[in-house]
Amino acid sequence: MALLTNRCLLIDGDKIAAITPDPPSNCDIAVDLDYGLVLPGFLNLHNHCLSSVPFRGLTEGLVTSNFLDDIVFALLLPLGDLVTKELTSAELKAVLALGLLEVIKGGSTTLVDQFRNTQTVSFDLAEEMGLRFYGAPYLFSPKRAAHQGPTEHKELGQNGDLKRCLDLFYQYDGAADGRIRVAFGPHGTDTCEPELLRAISKAAQERNCPITLHFGYSWSEVNTIRDRYGMGLAEYLDSLGLLGPRVLAVHCICCDQRDLRRLQQTNTTIVHCPRSYARGGVATSFQRFADEGIRTTIGTDGYCMDMVGEISAAGILAKLASGRAAQPSAWELVRAVTIESATALGREDIGRIAPGCRADLLIVDMERPHLQPVSDPITTFVWNAGRADVWGVMVDGRLLVREYRYLWGDELEITRAGRAAVQRIWEMESCQEIVAKAQGNAMRSIGGGVSDSPRDH
Ligand SMILES: [Zn+2]
Repeated sequence: MALLTNRCLLIDGDKIAAITPDPPSNCDIAVDLDYGLVLPGFLNLHNHCLSSVPFRGLTEGLVTSNFLDDIVFALLLPLGDLVTKELTSAELKAVLALGLLEVIKGGSTTLVDQFRNTQTVSFDLAEEMGLRFYGAPYLFSPKRAAHQGPTEHKELGQNGDLKRCLDLFYQYDGAADGRIRVAFGPHGTDTCEPELLRAISKAAQERNCPITLHFGYSWSEVNTIRDRYGMGLAEYLDSLGLLGPRVLAVHCICCDQRDLRRLQQTNTTIVHCPRSYARGGVATSFQRFADEGIRTTIGTDGYCMDMVGEISAAGILAKLASGRAAQPSAWELVRAVTIESATALGREDIGRIAPGCRADLLIVDMERPHLQPVSDPITTFVWNAGRADVWGVMVDGRLLVREYRYLWGDELEITRAGRAAVQRIWEMESCQEIVAKAQGNAMRSIGGGVSDSPRDH
C-alpha cells in the first residue's frame, strides 16, 4: 500500500481505467477536490443490519454480568423475534433501507451481513441501494439453537436449513453484475451440529463461497464444545474441515493461544468487532490477533454501522490493551479493511486502487478544520476523521454518495420510514416488557422518556 499524490483517477464503466498525473482531456463526470483523499472502499466483514436500527439506544448502559446473557439473550434475540414477527414486509424493507443507508454513509462499499433466512429482502434492497453485498442467511441445527441461552428461542431453530440456503444461493449469487453474493452463515460452533457444519464446508467448497460464523464469542461456547466433543474450538472446527482461507471467524475473544495458532496455520481470517463488545464492558484487541500473524479484519456486528469509527475504535482499544502506542498503525488498520478483507473474500479486484480493479472508492475532503494541516493523510484520516467526513462513496464506478448526500434515494424519506416502523414496534406492550426486563428498573418505557429511578450500580 502506498500513497500517491497529485494524481487523477480515471473510471471507465465499473472499473478503474488509469491513474495519471494529468487530468483527461474530457470525461462525463468529474470530481475535483483540492485536498481530496481517495481510498479503496472499506469492506465491513460482519454485520447484522436488522439488529442495529431497532436496537438503537437500547443496548448501552445495561447492567450486565454477562454480555451474552444480558444483551444477546435478554434483549437482542427476543426483540429480534418480535421484529421478525410483527413488521410487515414494507416495514421490514424500510428498517433495512435505513440500516443500509447508515452502512453506506459509514464508509462501507462491501458488506457481509448475516440475517434470518426469511429476510431475503436484504439481497433485493442491497442491489437496489447500490451496495456490494455478501448475504449470509443463518444456518442452525434446530435442536441446538432451541436450547441456547436462558430462554428458548425456537424461532432460531426453525430458521436455518441448508437446503433453503442453497436455494438462495442459486437465486441470488452473482446478481447485479456480481455485486450480490451469497455466503454460508452457520450461526456458531455450539448452535450447529457437526453434521451440519461438515455439510456446509462441503457445499461452500463446491461453490467457492465464503463461510462466516461466530467463533469464540462466549465462554459458555468454549465449555460446551469441550464438554460435547472434548476439543478446543479451533481443533473442533478444523476436524470438520471448517477452517481455511475462505472462513471468516467472527469475534474470537475467547480463543486461547492454541486456537489462535491453528487459525494462523490454516490461514483463517478473524473478523474483529470491537465496539459491539465494548458497549457491554468487554475489552477486545485487534493487536492480539495481528501479533499472531493472523489475517485480522474488522466488522460492525450490527452496532454503529460506521466503519470509519470502527477502525479508530479498534486502534484505540488495541493500544489500551497492549500499552503500546505504535500498534496498530493507521496504515495497518486501513489495510485490514481494504486489501486484507478483499483477500479474505478471495477477491483481487476490490479493496485496492489499481487499473482493472472495480471502482469501489471512498472520497474524503481533507480540507476541513479538524483535518488540517495534513502530514500523513492516512494517519490524519484514521485518528481525526469521522463518518461525517465521507464526501463520496462509489461502488462499481457509480457514485452512491456525493457531497455527503446519498444519491440513489431520498435520505429523509428513508430515515422517516425506517423510524416509523421501529417506533410502532417500540410502542407495543410486548416490546416494552422485553426492554424493561432487560434494563431492569433503569428505563420504564422507550420512545417516551427515561424513568427517574436510579440506575443500579
Ligand atoms: Zn454477529
